[in-house]
Amino acid sequence: MSHRVRQINCAEAVSRLYDYLDREGPAASLEEVEVHLDLCRHCCSRFAFEALLWQRVREEGRGEKCPEELKAKVRALLEKY
Ligand SMILES: [Zn+2]
Repeated sequence: MSHRVRQINCAEAVSRLYDYLDREGPAASLEEVEVHLDLCRHCCSRFAFEALLWQRVREEGRGEKCPEELKAKVRALLEKY
């Protein structure tokens, strides 16, 4: 192994969900999320759902819907977990 990736917990992974989906933020941070997903089934299924949803929004909603609005909606849902 060339380097160690810091282990993050579920809360950290979820808080970076949108950065991860948008591919924003430092590569190391995205890698940490990715590693967490490999280890954590719970987050993995949840992220997979979010990623699919997000992808659809991007493909179909461009210019018409407001992604920020949806982001807020999904965020509110996630906070109930
Ligand atoms: Zn997790």
